[in-house]
Amino acid sequence: MSQNEIAIVGGGLGGISAAVYLKLAGFDVCLFEKNERVGGRANRLERDGFIFDTGPSLLNYPWVFQDFFAAAGKRLEDYVELLPVDPALIFRWPDRKELILSSDVTRLRESLYRLEPECDAGLMAFLRDAHIKYKLAFEKLVSKNVTSPLDWLVALTPREMSYVTVWRSLYSELGRFFRSRYIKEALGAYAMYLGGSPFELPGFFSILSYGELAYGLWLPKRGIYGLVEGMERLANELGVVIRTQTPVVAIETSQGRVRGLRLADGSREQFPIVLSNVDVPYTDTFLLNGDKNFPKLQKRAKRMKMTPGVCTFYWGLKTPLHNLAHHTIFLPDNYKKTFDELMHEGKIPSDIPFYVSVPSATDRSLAPLGGACVFVLIPTPRLSQLGDVDWSVIRQDLRQRVLKRLEEEHYAIDPDSIVVEEFFSVEEWHRRYGLYDGSAFGAAHTLFQVGPFRAGNQSAQIKGLYYTGASTTPGTGLPMVVLSGKLTAERVVANVR
Ligand SMILES: Cc1cc2nc3c(=O)[nH]c(=O)nc-3n(C[C@H](O)[C@H](O)[C@H](O)COP(=O)(O)OP(=O)(O)OC[C@H]3O[C@@H](n4cnc5c(N)ncnc54)[C@H](O)[C@@H]3O)c2cc1C
Repeated sequence: MSQNEIAIVGGGLGGISAAVYLKLAGFDVCLFEKNERVGGRANRLERDGFIFDTGPSLLNYPWVFQDFFAAAGKRLEDYVELLPVDPALIFRWPDRKELILSSDVTRLRESLYRLEPECDAGLMAFLRDAHIKYKLAFEKLVSKNVTSPLDWLVALTPREMSYVTVWRSLYSELGRFFRSRYIKEALGAYAMYLGGSPFELPGFFSILSYGELAYGLWLPKRGIYGLVEGMERLANELGVVIRTQTPVVAIETSQGRVRGLRLADGSREQFPIVLSNVDVPYTDTFLLNGDKNFPKLQKRAKRMKMTPGVCTFYWGLKTPLHNLAHHTIFLPDNYKKTFDELMHEGKIPSDIPFYVSVPSATDRSLAPLGGACVFVLIPTPRLSQLGDVDWSVIRQDLRQRVLKRLEEEHYAIDPDSIVVEEFFSVEEWHRRYGLYDGSAFGAAHTLFQVGPFRAGNQSAQIKGLYYTGASTTPGTGLPMVVLSGKLTAERVVANVR
């Protein structure tokens, strides 16, 4: 076994990113992926001429991907064609109120005026404030490896510290700039994907909506998976070895250090360094030689606060959908109650919020001529909160509720026009990609699970073991996990070289 060899378990975007950065640093990298193709949650389903992305559909912060290709001396546009999506998002409420989020400021203002006629000063102040926070986040906080809260403290001047709003919730932070409940609810809805309610998540996360306003939202040609293909191509060109359909059943350790991997076919492969791209609590619970050896890691996994689960539908329509934009989020009447049911009571909300994406509105090649692809995402509690449920009953119930709300808002989808239907339950998400407790986005971004408090990318217990991906630093989402791969690679290089 050469000291230069590194194994990566899992071919999510975090895993591919780490593989490329490590290969560029001169390591021999072998990536083991259990499924037939890489991409993880960002995967592809093809049915009867319809092409669906399984998970992510909103691509933001394109500069992160440009930097990724530039690290290898390449240009993003030679690997991936990005199509702009504008408006980025439309939010709708049952009383027919609507908010259109666009990076075209004139369009954005017009939409906000309809909800809060005197919001001009608030909007400008919000954009200024979020811009400063965004720059702080990427220049000083999330793009560097940190080990202790002190690292963050010394990185910031007292004035900069005042922008790191962690003592105020996202919802009340938005209330500093806007009075309209609709604007606060829309800009606060991002909290759902970070695993918290906007009434609890730190106000600093107002940067999320700002990121989309400032840098736009994009769809790679041939869907989000077009980006995965571009990143995989670069990894192949550099000589990363990618072994798909190769599940790892254990990361083997002895005397407190990594020794290699045990594969599902019973074979063993030795490696001095292993990076797990499988979600941190899943790695700690199921891939590390069982509970006896690492009780601290088991405890950490149990204590970790996780984001909700999701159920997703993939509909291939034989008719076009003219009036539904690329991304629409349908919010409920009683926003607070919905978050309470989802986050605290562990119930599928009585009035479900859901998100509909029609990527074929931007890239016609994703559906056969005259048809449309529809993706529906419904946040739900996690597996342990739901208990023993009948997924076929839940599927029918959610399907009916989504179609009813669409019909009420004049976006009717005729059930007879659905010629292809796939459904991923929380259980299915868990089974396919090793999502701990069915949590769709990994560890939540609560105050004590961000920055230096989040699970670190280097194991303190096991020498030679590293983590990359959504549940470690800096966090969840496609750009974040690509940054995570870079940070983990930098950590390895700093330790080994
Ligand atoms: C439904 C949904 C919608 C989302 N929407 C968005 C969005 O619009 N925008 C956005 O930016 N983000 C979105 N996200 C979040 C985003 O998808 C994730 O943060 C990101 O893809 C996670 O990447 P990762 O590197 O952590 O790895 P993962 O994608 O979790 O990949 C881990 C890989 O490990 C493999 N694996 C697991 N166990 C083993 C094993 N034992 N042996 C070998 N391989 C194994 C899995 O098959 C998988 O390929 C969404 C997520 C979901 C679920």
